[in-house]
Parts: sequence; C-alpha cells; structure tokens
Amino acid sequence: MGKKVKTAITPTREEDYSQWYQEVVKASDMAENSPVRGCMVIKPWGYAIWENIQRQMDAMFKETGVKNAYFPLFIPLSYLEKEAEHVEGFAKECAVVTHHKLEKGENGRLVPAGELAEPLIVRPTSETIIGESMSRWTSSYRDLPILLNQWANVVRWEMRTRMFLRTSEFLWQEGHTAHATKDEAMERTLQMLEIYAKFVEERLAMPVIKGRKSESERFPGADDTTCIEAMMQDKRALQAGTSHFLGQNFAKGSNIKFQNEEGQESFAWTTSWGTSTRMIGGMIMVHSDDDGLVVPPRIAPAHVVILPIIKKGADNSDVQESAQALQAALRQQTFHGLPVEVEIDSRDIGGARGWDWVKKGIPVRVELGPRDIENNSLFMARRDTGEKKGINREAFINTIADILDDIQETLFQRAQAFREVNTFSIDEKDQFYDLYKKANGYNNGAFVLAHWCGSGQCEEKIKQDLSVTIRCIPFDSPDEAGSCIYCGAKSDRRVLFAKAY
Ligand SMILES: [Zn+2]
Repeated sequence: MGKKVKTAITPTREEDYSQWYQEVVKASDMAENSPVRGCMVIKPWGYAIWENIQRQMDAMFKETGVKNAYFPLFIPLSYLEKEAEHVEGFAKECAVVTHHKLEKGENGRLVPAGELAEPLIVRPTSETIIGESMSRWTSSYRDLPILLNQWANVVRWEMRTRMFLRTSEFLWQEGHTAHATKDEAMERTLQMLEIYAKFVEERLAMPVIKGRKSESERFPGADDTTCIEAMMQDKRALQAGTSHFLGQNFAKGSNIKFQNEEGQESFAWTTSWGTSTRMIGGMIMVHSDDDGLVVPPRIAPAHVVILPIIKKGADNSDVQESAQALQAALRQQTFHGLPVEVEIDSRDIGGARGWDWVKKGIPVRVELGPRDIENNSLFMARRDTGEKKGINREAFINTIADILDDIQETLFQRAQAFREVNTFSIDEKDQFYDLYKKANGYNNGAFVLAHWCGSGQCEEKIKQDLSVTIRCIPFDSPDEAGSCIYCGAKSDRRVLFAKAY
C-alpha cells in the first residue's frame, strides 16, 4: 500500500461517494440542510452559480421568442385531475394545503383552522394551471404560438433527499408552449432540448447524450419525452433536462381550443420543458475531486481569487494596494463578454485561506507577496489541473481569458474522455448482468449500449434484477439489426442503459 495522500475532503470519492458528495457541498459553502426535512438553504456561493445558470439560459430562451411569465404557487386540486396520467404521476408526491388559518388551541399551541372548501396543491409542475390560462388566451390561430417560461420553485414531497439532486422544494424553470400544428410543437420540443444540450455542454462542461425516453420513463401525460443524460464520476447517469411533446392531451384537459385558418375549431398542441438546480448536483459530481468542488469558469461566481501574502505586525499596505490594482486590471478583461470576476481574500488565517478557495472550486488562485511585486510577477494555481507556476503580471492579466477558456475546455474533455472509456456496447446477456452485478459504491458499472426489443416487460425485468434502466434511446443511435439483451427478440437499434440518479 502506498502512502495515503491527504485530501481536503474525507471520505474520498472511492471510500464513500455519496458521503463525499455531501462533504463537497458543505465544504464549498454552497448549501445546507434546512429545519424542514428535504429542503435546503442555498448559500451565496451556491446561489450565485444558480443565478449565472439562470441569466445565461434565460438569454438563450429569449433568442427563440420565449417570454417569461409567472403563475401561482397554489393549484386547485381539481386542475390536477384534468389529465388522467398526470394525476397518477404526481399524486403521490403532492403537498396539499387544507387550511387557511391558525388558532390557539389547548396549551397555547397553534392548530390549523378554517378548512378550505377545495384543497389546494403546491405546484409539482404547472401544466394544468398554465393550460387554464392558455385556454382563455386562445380563440384564433392568430393567438398562437404561445411561448412561455417561468422561473419558480416547485414542491415534490420526496422521502429520500440529497442537496441539489433531490429535494422536496427545488428551483427550476418550466417552459410551456402551445401551437396550432403538431409539427410545430414537435419542432419546439426538439429545439428546446438542443438549447439544453448546448447550455450544459458549453457552460457546465458536461457532455450529454440526447435521446428519447422509453414509454415507462415518459413524463406523466406526455406523448413523447426527450432528454439529455450525463455520466457522473461514479458512472451513474443523471438526467440534466427534459423536453416533452404533450400532443393534445393537456389541450383537451384544459380546453385550449382555437379556430384554424379554415374556420374549424381545433385543439392546440402543447410542449413543456424543464431544468432545475439538479444541474448543479450534476456539475458537482462530474467535475469535483477529493479536494472539493471544481466550478467551470463560465458559470463560476468568481474566476480568480487574489491571496495577498500578509506579514503579521508589518506594514502590508504595498501588497494590499498591489492586490487591488491587480483586481482592477483583471476586471477590465472580459471573458465571453462579461467582466472577469475577482475576489481578494486578506483574512489572516494561514494555510486554511488557500484551502477554502480550493474547496470552493474557484478556477484560479493567485498569491501575491512583496517579492512578486518587486519582480512584477505573481504565483498562480489552476483548480482543474492543480498546476502552479510563477508568471509575469502583465502576461497573466492579458491572458486570463485564455487561461479560463483552457480550464473550461480541459474540464469538458476530461469528462468526455471519462464517459468514453466507461461506455460499452454489449450483446451478451451474461456479460451485461455480470457488469452490473459487480456494480456498487463508487463503481456503478458503466453506460451500456445494448439492443432492446421495445417491450416494457424486458425493461421492467432488467430494472428489477439490476436497478438498471433505459436512460434514453439516443438520437444518434444508428439503425442496426440485433437482438434484445434480455429476451433475444429482434431489435433495430441500441438504447442506453445505466444506473441513474
Ligand atoms: Zn426483449
């Protein structure tokens, strides 16, 4: 056994991946558990990442004509009943409001009073209430398309929760559109999935596989669900976004009707699409290491931290001034059209100061002392590679955007290479079963591309035996004759199997 390397996070990924994840969240100061089980407090470092996601994604939506709106948190219970499959899909996890006031009971304790005539549900998603508005806004084909998005919180009562990945309340965006034709709605479904894929790959540096869900994994009430799936470092899949073609199901339930160009009455075709704070959970699991969080520069709350070398009891004003001048010069530089964000941390806490920023995952750390100032240089460290080096001050300022781009690219390439070596095409059932039977802890097997006959029974058997599911039928999966990995029946293409979050 080699000497154990000391890491900032214990346990390491290999020792206990799930505990490692919790520790990374804690050590990075992104979020903490709240007094209400299953909910989280998102702290400034975590929320700033969400704000960056929000701002950048919002701009991408708006480029395609989508407008933001806001709909109520509460939905009448009867609305949920409008689409049969939808009710079934969400009923089990709905928070329900049944009373509207509190009264002092015995012992002075507060008790709910004033029972509501119709209970309200706290939105788990907003198809039904937005559909109701759309039905009032739509009378002619000229009123279509309606292209809406809302940034909101939703509640799905979860029994087993984990910060960012699965919480009872979470933040998300939900897009809802209504169209006059099926083709247009289908096109919008795919257009939004493309935006998600581009965003997640470009900004979060997470490579994704685009595809279509099997029937059993579809959104409740949808005709078709498309998704993007990413591989985490424990080789499990995380669904990072979904875009649904809802057909006319919700339009019929909510009565979204219009007169078409021929003067006939017709139901609209609708879509919905969403991404959530879960993407942050994915980002953590794809890039972070045993020293803590690693944040891709394009969504980092800050890009550079300057750590002036402070001498106790000495006059440090030169170093402080030089740090401020460096901060100002770096802020003049732009990174993808926005100023480079720079923090200065002058806390007098010794080595813990540098480690704090390592654990927060800031892309670049800079140390600046009197000797560096004399030499017109500085000492920089990259979070992604751990590379540390002295560099001329002007050269650093002039190339900071390139350095950040290189970090972004390195993170993406590394994640892609990891996924590639952990993705296999398998044709033998025994081999498939062996792979996943050995899977546990840090090693949850792999992504497997295997043939599937299309039967829900084969899919269910595999799920029961191995906890492995069909993540998607990849769009780029070529036509190829083969036989189902479970039953041997004829199959036309491979689908993507994995254990999933
Ligand atoms: Zn089969």
